[in-house]
Amino acid sequence: MVCFALPLDKEKIRAFLRKDLPNGRRGHELDNIETNIHVFKIAIKLTDYLNSLGYKAKPIFPNYKYREDVPGWEINMIPELSLKLIAARSGVGSIGLSGNLGLKGYGATIILGGVVTDALLQATDPIPQEESFCNECRLCQKVCAFRMFGTDEMESIDIGGYTFSCAKRINLTRCQIVCSGLSGLDKSGQWSTWSPGRYDYPETDKEVMRLLAIAVNNSSKWPDDGTEIGMEIANLEEDEELSMVLGNDKEKLFTMIKNTKLTCGNCQLICWGYPKLTKENFEILTNSGCIVQNETGELLVLSPNKAEKVFSKMNPEHQRLYYKKIRRF
Ligand code: SF4
Ligand code: SF4
Repeated sequence: MVCFALPLDKEKIRAFLRKDLPNGRRGHELDNIETNIHVFKIAIKLTDYLNSLGYKAKPIFPNYKYREDVPGWEINMIPELSLKLIAARSGVGSIGLSGNLGLKGYGATIILGGVVTDALLQATDPIPQEESFCNECRLCQKVCAFRMFGTDEMESIDIGGYTFSCAKRINLTRCQIVCSGLSGLDKSGQWSTWSPGRYDYPETDKEVMRLLAIAVNNSSKWPDDGTEIGMEIANLEEDEELSMVLGNDKEKLFTMIKNTKLTCGNCQLICWGYPKLTKENFEILTNSGCIVQNETGELLVLSPNKAEKVFSKMNPEHQRLYYKKIRRF
């Protein structure tokens, strides 16, 4: 494989973490999607080049494409190929405590791309642990609202004769609830992601699964917040190069891109490769307030106390779409 990384726009990330209105979320969302598309287009060019030299090659779509042949793929979202592991093994970057790939002096705010080929390329080695961007500050654990990897336990994976490790994933569904925007209120109750879901922190796996079912059902009834991203990348279908390479997957992937609403990604976004900057990002996010959605769909950014007050005065029918006391197991 050939693997590479492109940077995300850090100014837009700061606006996302601060919860700037009206465009703090959308600015980063668009940058993220456009960077993914950019990465894929580089992979297509590289594929064409390798083909022109007589080698077989295939570009990897960097997101949204999963191993649908694996039972339970909708929950586990196993990619065609793990670009993260290829990038770690080939020394594009290192795996940090959060499990995200990062670059020394830049952090984890990158998007990975790659091409599989039968060209015999010289393999490059992983980055030595002492050269990692990760200083184990553990702030990434604290910005995960449902603490998906919040314990001291570590897990490891062996690839190509090397072992890589990161904090143990307690239950991936914790991330699916928060990262897919179903709930956003942090365990502390003091800040939220961009999601207006305000569910209590689930303590056990059973509570997580029960919450997932409730939250999926409720979120489908949320009013439209008026920030459809599809409008801004409407020319996607007109992109002949993309359409041709994606073939039968085109419609599905374009729909997924257009339906994307980024509300979290915090474990990746705060980590900027320098402890001072990462700490600043942590402070910005944890002081950015809480999202509440009113009945017209508008997203409000309020201090934690005000958010609680405003929410508790809303119509009970509306409140039920964002909060339900979880039965404890
Ligand atoms: S925030 Fe970044 S540097 Fe700090 S522990 Fe997490 S991955 Fe490592
Ligand atoms: S993306 Fe958000 S919810 Fe998922 S692990 Fe990272 S911080 Fe947690």
